[in-house]
Amino acid sequence: MAGRQGSSRSRAARCRIITVGDELLNGIRVDTNTSWLADKLSEMGIMTEQAVTVGDDPVMIAASVREAVGGTDIVIVTGGLGPTLDDRTKEALADLFEVKMTPRPEVEEAVRGFFEERGRETTRVNLDQALVPAGFECRVNPRGTAPGMLKDDGSHLLFVLPGVPGEMKALFEEWVGPLINDRYGGRRVIVRRWYRTTGIGESDLFDLVGGLEEMAPAVNLAYLPSPEGTTLYLTGSGAHEETLEALLDSAEAHIVRAARQYLYTTSDIDLPEHIADLFSRRGLTLATAESCTGGLIASRLTDVPGASEWFRRGWVTYSDEAKVEELGVPAEIISEFGAVSSPVVISMAEGARSRAKTDYAIAVSGIAGPTGERPGKPVGFTCIACAGPEGTVVKEHHLGSGGRTRNKRRSMVLLLDLLRRVVDGLDP
Ligand code: ATP
Ligand code: MG
Repeated sequence: MAGRQGSSRSRAARCRIITVGDELLNGIRVDTNTSWLADKLSEMGIMTEQAVTVGDDPVMIAASVREAVGGTDIVIVTGGLGPTLDDRTKEALADLFEVKMTPRPEVEEAVRGFFEERGRETTRVNLDQALVPAGFECRVNPRGTAPGMLKDDGSHLLFVLPGVPGEMKALFEEWVGPLINDRYGGRRVIVRRWYRTTGIGESDLFDLVGGLEEMAPAVNLAYLPSPEGTTLYLTGSGAHEETLEALLDSAEAHIVRAARQYLYTTSDIDLPEHIADLFSRRGLTLATAESCTGGLIASRLTDVPGASEWFRRGWVTYSDEAKVEELGVPAEIISEFGAVSSPVVISMAEGARSRAKTDYAIAVSGIAGPTGERPGKPVGFTCIACAGPEGTVVKEHHLGSGGRTRNKRRSMVLLLDLLRRVVDGLDP
């Protein structure tokens, strides 16, 4: 008995996802349902082994469902359930399982209620939502009219959900997830951890950290680069949570040791969120003085809930006059060194700090491109400064001509990284 239980626990349940819709194949819409579902399933210890997208073509839909159902524990189909002619999923299922469409009174009632509540008339087309292939169980959709459907043959679960992301999520949270959990939960755990770095490229980071698979085959380390830094994504799966956590702890110790200088958090948060956390925990206050980033930094910092506790004031001083009038930057410094220069950002940061009366102030000025280069100052040349109780630190960077928005984001990251290093007493 114990042996049987052991073997069933050793294999993670597997899922395949099928998303349906021409708009997902012709570039009009991005498929967000797959990533949302895969994330939820992964949290539950269910491995998504395949995801496919098919157009609104009943033959293709039926073929994909047939193949998926034969090879896995759980299949989730989303999309193509609507009442319009381009929605063909139900028709495909009826053909595949060779069953008729049958009216479901509970769905019809829900559809009528849905329109009555909104003071609208229920049309014939809407009532077609209550026609469901025989042999499927229905679940009324709390947010829309297309019901969720389930075919359960005792060993496989086939769910069919509406494509509208909000409707799909609501049905998953209240119906699909709990059902899957009852049947397959606890067999195997998947643990995920994040390590956020900045200031180092993906390949240099790999040289530092390396692969971990030789060290621990049950763990996987992925490198996910973005203009805001590289995230290390550590996952492991196993039958016993404690053993797995211990394994990941030792992998984590290795990662933290190797990447210490570049690692700003071991939580799944970005740099602005990390700064928010740092400032609110320490009871510090901040002001920003931005030129080339045009307010991006203030905007991203204030995206974090509770920013009013520690974010005091932000200036966008784009012109020379604004730098002089708003922050007290001496006009002579600008004419002598240029608006994109270390002396100017130092003066911007110090001016902002004294005017806002904050613990810290940060400033940036750069040539975001594609035009605006000057002798000795190519596109991408950016100066950043951080003023604080211990004085002011300034840095110059060459970000290249990778595009305006990319350079704005890179400038933000470099400046927030400088700020966290200064606040943490690290080598800036
Ligand atoms: P309903 O009857 O509630 O409209 P439906 O199953 O017919 O549901 P679709 O018509 O396929 O859903 O899609 C409805 C909307 O949801 C469309 O705007 C579509 O682009 C969007 N959508 C469908 N599938 C996805 C997906 N996988 N990711 C993101 N958006 C999607
Ligand atoms: Mg569709």
